[in-house]
Amino acid sequence: DRDKSKISGAVQRRLNNVGASSVLFYREPIEMVSAKGAWMTAADGSQYLDFYNNVPCIGHCHPAVIEAVSQQLSKLNTNTRYIVAIVDEYLEKLKATFPASLSNVVLTCSGSEANDLAMRLACKSTGGTGFIVTECAYHGNTAFVTQVSPSSLKNETLPNHVIAIPAPSVQNYGADIEQGFTNRVQAAIDELSQRGIKVAALLLDSIFSSDGVFSHPNGFLHSAVEVIHRAGGVYIADEVQPGFARTGENFWGFSAHGVVPDIVTMGKPMGNGFPMAGMVTNPHLLDAYCHDVGYFNTFGGNPVAAAAGLAVLNTLESERLQDNARILGDNLKTRLINIAEQSSIIGEIRGSGLFFGIDIQAQGTHSAELTIQVIDRLREQKILAGAAGKQGSTLKLRPPLCLTQSEADFFIEGFRKVALA
Ligand code: PMP
Repeated sequence: DRDKSKISGAVQRRLNNVGASSVLFYREPIEMVSAKGAWMTAADGSQYLDFYNNVPCIGHCHPAVIEAVSQQLSKLNTNTRYIVAIVDEYLEKLKATFPASLSNVVLTCSGSEANDLAMRLACKSTGGTGFIVTECAYHGNTAFVTQVSPSSLKNETLPNHVIAIPAPSVQNYGADIEQGFTNRVQAAIDELSQRGIKVAALLLDSIFSSDGVFSHPNGFLHSAVEVIHRAGGVYIADEVQPGFARTGENFWGFSAHGVVPDIVTMGKPMGNGFPMAGMVTNPHLLDAYCHDVGYFNTFGGNPVAAAAGLAVLNTLESERLQDNARILGDNLKTRLINIAEQSSIIGEIRGSGLFFGIDIQAQGTHSAELTIQVIDRLREQKILAGAAGKQGSTLKLRPPLCLTQSEADFFIEGFRKVALA
């Protein structure tokens, strides 16, 4: 949809190279050259406060990760068929963040691979093939995972074994979100059954990122998880976006719901930019799968990935970044709500910790076009933001967890200008 007269040489070069698979942000994309902490620097020298990118969770180019990766890379990197102490050190530290029943980890290179494996485990252990997801979910890019990612499907429809249900919002289910959502999960199980399909899993992003960020009330997933278990299915928590302390109150998003998933998948912030992801589950599920099918991942959980992951966990701890996400997040939310009260274009503000969904509206109606304009105006204020939600009308914000009070102030100042213009 780009205005051809505005396409720069750098953008044209990218389009020549990747063609229709191009996924650049902004109608006039930004060429980035470096980044540090919460800031990114563009080729023209401008600096942007990164309020969107949840990969560099402890901050762009964090010295702890650079040091750990460089050291390990200069000592040993190999496929995953040897014992290397740092890998087990990492696995044990990672497992310590989970309920005790989730004691087996498979490390992968992407969240897609982790979800693909989780889905295969679900099918194997339940004997089912059906999946229930939310309407705008994204769970990854493999053939299997694309089938459960409605947000990826443009001119294709969901296959018969997948049912997408509306996101858990008041608009969709009324005040009792838990009851409404649970009823809808049950109806999906029944519908699959009418199609002759047994349900394998309820697969949910714990904060419903692509659906528009639905975080509250805490605990609303509780009875939906009971219902899926009663039907013989498993519950897979996709923590690729909310995981690793971002939601402030909890290290993992599912904890806010007081539930223990059968399988958890994770990725994005796990290596602070070093590509790594994983799946955690209980040994019974993994045994059932590995009994019949082998799983090997050449790069998943290699020693350099373990070094990066360990540096991330250590830094989250030493810099108290979960506390920072909670405190700064609460403070930002209060200020955002205050701005919303004075603005005609800001609707509901949702989210936990440093993860926000902000509805953008024109004359009280959701507006994707206005959301794009808001994102462009925030860019003029040197703030990077993105969109999510069914109508593409929710501003999605996820700054690095190392955000400082003065950076939060910088954001609020810019946001206020845009919201009250
Ligand atoms: N699950 C969710 C919720 C995601 O947001 C993503 C990536 N956007 C994935 C899975 C897939 O992860 P990856 O891109 O690392 O394959």
